[in-house]
Amino acid sequence: MGIGVEDNWRNKMAFRLCCKEGELPFKYLGIPVGGNHKRVAMWQPMVNSFKKKLTTWKGRFLSLGGRITLINSVLSSLPVFLMSVYLIPKGILYSIDKIRRSFLWGGGGEKRKIKWVSWDKVCKKKEEGGLGVRELRKFNLALLGKWWGRLAENKEGLWKRVIIGKYGERGGHWLDWIKEREGLGSTWWRDVCCIDKMDRERVGWLLEGFRIKLGDGKRVSFWWDNWCGVGYLANKYPRLYLISTGKDNKCHQMGNEGNEQWSWNLQWRRKLFEWEKEEAKELQQLIEDKKIKQGRPDSWEWVHDKDGQYSTKTAYSILTKDQIETNEISTYKRIWNPKFPSKVSAFNWQLLLDRIPTKVNLVIRGIIGEAEDGKCVFCKEEDEDSKHVFLKCKITSWVWQECAKWWGTEVRLERDCWNSFQRFGKWSKDPKVKEGWDCIWSTVIWTVWLARNQMIFQDKKTDPRKLLEIIQVRSFQWCTAKLDRYAFTFTDWLINPVECIKSLHAGRKKRV
Ligand SMILES: [Zn+2]
Repeated sequence: MGIGVEDNWRNKMAFRLCCKEGELPFKYLGIPVGGNHKRVAMWQPMVNSFKKKLTTWKGRFLSLGGRITLINSVLSSLPVFLMSVYLIPKGILYSIDKIRRSFLWGGGGEKRKIKWVSWDKVCKKKEEGGLGVRELRKFNLALLGKWWGRLAENKEGLWKRVIIGKYGERGGHWLDWIKEREGLGSTWWRDVCCIDKMDRERVGWLLEGFRIKLGDGKRVSFWWDNWCGVGYLANKYPRLYLISTGKDNKCHQMGNEGNEQWSWNLQWRRKLFEWEKEEAKELQQLIEDKKIKQGRPDSWEWVHDKDGQYSTKTAYSILTKDQIETNEISTYKRIWNPKFPSKVSAFNWQLLLDRIPTKVNLVIRGIIGEAEDGKCVFCKEEDEDSKHVFLKCKITSWVWQECAKWWGTEVRLERDCWNSFQRFGKWSKDPKVKEGWDCIWSTVIWTVWLARNQMIFQDKKTDPRKLLEIIQVRSFQWCTAKLDRYAFTFTDWLINPVECIKSLHAGRKKRV
């Protein structure tokens, strides 16, 4: 490749040096170099591979649970490195999300594809009521943040030398320096500089995540680095700064080591006025417990990680963190119980948000007309909403009552499925025992839903007695599925389910 030379000369040189001639853009380690990453064409291969891996026909044979798993795994198998180098253009994000969205809600056998839950919600973590689908922009930012992490590290590297060589140096390679270099240089560098601002709800997330760890104080500017956690001292105490004798001093020049103890010694050009004394005292208190440690270079640390290293994982979790009540978190967590199949978890999730295709919900979304039969398929008397099908209908309430007899307890009619699930969660504090009860609750719900679908789509009659039997068998299977050995037999289960569930308790292995 030649810049500013004639073809002829380039030919010759290539021949001499035994190289091939090339053109921009070319690929290096799979990353297009010299292409314009703002252009859609560069990203098209990535969009295509999403398209190829998430085709609707594949989705049709998978449950919602399976589709969630596939969506999440496709991202990890895709060229993540492309996202860790460049900021994905908005249009590309939109296309990829469109593919992922229609894959998630495709299949399922409904005539029209309904996106039951908003994409924002889907992208939340599972314990926050989402499906844990990665949010691409945030993931992209978390990956790009690594460049800041690299600048912050004490290690020298060619890349860092190039960047500093190109954009100048200011007392080393402190991150504040990135801020000063914003808007300069290549589009790539400009993108890297503003990662910090890209997430509108969390402006400053990246810079705030880094903290200076004072070492020997040789590289930290006393007045012009944020090493106390309150911003630049020069900005906080402008008066004092003006009369300081060491405006450009590094920290190690602002005190001395006596008796192996560091003490700060701030010098002023003149005697302080009374009111300045107050400020000086405040400043002194602020820096009092920060000490210079000889023999250890100053460094940056990433506050969100134990060992102070920037990691994409912690960055992503900051970007996606949400304010949510603890009891909601624990309820959502319970949905993803490893004891039952993922399709059941996914169904529970949809149900607790009341986003399942009951007739009432289909009418609301205009999928079936109001004139069509919207009555419950079991009793044919009341409108079919989720409370009715799963709790109130005479068929299901009979099933719940019989189950209650089997467990030797009582089951109240709750306001909705969310509350019913909450109630079950209160039956035990032991997490393993809780899992057992959640299994039973989910079995009842799942069994009723399957019976309802069989009646609608296959015209199969439902016998409540039969439902009870199925629930007993199915819940036994789910409860014992992931146990090392059978802690109890099916007969035990029928006779005394409560004791069996208690035996799931972590420390207890005794047979019932
Ligand atoms: Zn009914």
